[in-house]
Amino acid sequence: MESIALIERLVGFETVSRDSNLPLIEFVESYLDDHGVASRRVPSHDGHKSNLIATVGPEEEGGVVLSGHTDVVPIDGQDWSSDPFVIRRDARRLYGRGTCDMKGFIAVALALVPQMTKLRRPVHFALSYDEEVGCLGAPDMIDVIRRELPPTRGVIVGEPTRMQAVTGHKGIVGLRTTVTGYEAHSSQTHRGVSAVMTAARRA
Ligand SMILES: [Zn+2]
Repeated sequence: MESIALIERLVGFETVSRDSNLPLIEFVESYLDDHGVASRRVPSHDGHKSNLIATVGPEEEGGVVLSGHTDVVPIDGQDWSSDPFVIRRDARRLYGRGTCDMKGFIAVALALVPQMTKLRRPVHFALSYDEEVGCLGAPDMIDVIRRELPPTRGVIVGEPTRMQAVTGHKGIVGLRTTVTGYEAHSSQTHRGVSAVMTAARRA
């Protein structure tokens, strides 16, 4: 299937994070199977959703993982001018929930599977669930990748980054600062040091 047809199929699965992604997973499994590629599920504990891992090419180390999440954010209360789960095309763009984030990437990668048959190093697909609600699906899948796949050279996550390669993730640094003053009676401020005033000034 060509990329746009695959995007249409994938967007057509209503994989809002609160719902099951299994119909999409089944579709990808059978698509890969049609191309002679075996895949395996890494399901959620309640069996309601699943990750999917597949290897195209030889079972060797040095491959690359193409990773994407299959869930999308809800459409509740949003004023869509067309059905969000049916791709609408204009001259230049495709519109639909998840076209960009990030079924488009998955679709393009899957569309290239027929051309991946002569690879000397493998391409691994790693599709997750529940990314939009805290990356709940990926950790179990990462465990299986670590345990069972030959060591890989890298992971490409097809998140939208305005077509720029991003090599890190937004992070957070938490700092705790203690400012110690010198206690004195409030009638004699010249004999003490206020920690509050000092901390505010340094900030
Ligand atoms: Zn995303």
